[in-house]
Amino acid sequence: MQADQKLFDNPGKQEYKATVNCADGKQRTFMFYKSTVANEAGVVIGLVGIMLDISQLEEKHQHLELLSLTDALTGLFNRRKFDTVFSQLLLSNVNKQSLLNFAIIDIDDFKTYNDNYGHTQGDLILKSVADIIQNRLKHSSDYTFRLGGEEFGMLFYSNNETDALQLCNQIRAKIEQLYSTKDNPGLAAVVTISTGLLSISSHNNEPEYIYHEADKLLYQAKSAGKNIIISKML
Ligand code: GH3
Ligand code: MG
Ligand code: MG
Repeated sequence: MQADQKLFDNPGKQEYKATVNCADGKQRTFMFYKSTVANEAGVVIGLVGIMLDISQLEEKHQHLELLSLTDALTGLFNRRKFDTVFSQLLLSNVNKQSLLNFAIIDIDDFKTYNDNYGHTQGDLILKSVADIIQNRLKHSSDYTFRLGGEEFGMLFYSNNETDALQLCNQIRAKIEQLYSTKDNPGLAAVVTISTGLLSISSHNNEPEYIYHEADKLLYQAKSAGKNIIISKML
C-alpha cells in the first residue's frame, strides 16, 4: 500500500522486488511491475500492474551462485571464494580475541602418484584429503578451500599458536594414515601432505603479502623433506 501511495504521488512506472507472506502460509518472492493510469486530461485515475512469482528463480540463482564458488570434485570452496573470504577476514582481524590462522596444504609428490596409479586414483585422493580437512574444521567461522590442483587452504581461528599447530598436525597424521584404514580399500599407497601455517596477529591485512608468507613456509616444509608443518607467527 505504501508503494502504491508512492506511485500515486509520483506518477509513472514502478518496479521492485518484495517478499510476501502468502495465504497458504508460505513466503514467496515477487517482482512487482506497476504503472499509473491517467485519463485524457492527464489526471491519475488508478494503477495497473502485475506480480511475478520469482521464488524458484531466486532459488536457482542462489544455487548457481554457490556452484560458481564451489569446486566440483571436492565440494570445497574454490579459489574465487577464497579471494573474497581471505580479504574479508584479514580486514576484520583487528582486536580479535582469537587468533586467525591461514594454512596452505599441498599433497606431496602428487605428480608421481598420478603417474604411478592413474588420474582416477589421484582424484580419489583429492576427495579424501578434502574430506579430512573439512571434517576437522567444523566451526561456523572456519573455511576450507581447494586453492587449485593439489593445493588446499584453511582459514580458521584458534586460542593460540599451539592449538593451530596441533590441528594441522592432526590433519597431517590422518592423511598419512588414510592408506592403512579399512574404510579406504580403494587407495593405492601412502599419501602425505606438507603445510605452511601462518598465525596472523599482526595488523597487516594485505592478502598478497600474507599469502606469500604462508607460501614461503610451505616451500620450507617441502625443502625440509615433506610430510611436515612449518609454522610462524606474523
Ligand atoms: P611436491 O611434493 O613438490 O608438491 O610435488 P608434486 O608432484 O605434488 O607437485 P607438482 O606441482 O609437480 O605436481 C602436481 C600434480 O598434481 C600434477 C597434476 O597432474 C596433479 N593434479 C592437479 N590437479 C589434479 C586433479 O584434479 N586430479 C588429479 N588426479 N591430479 C591433479
Ligand atoms: Mg604437491
Ligand atoms: Mg602444488
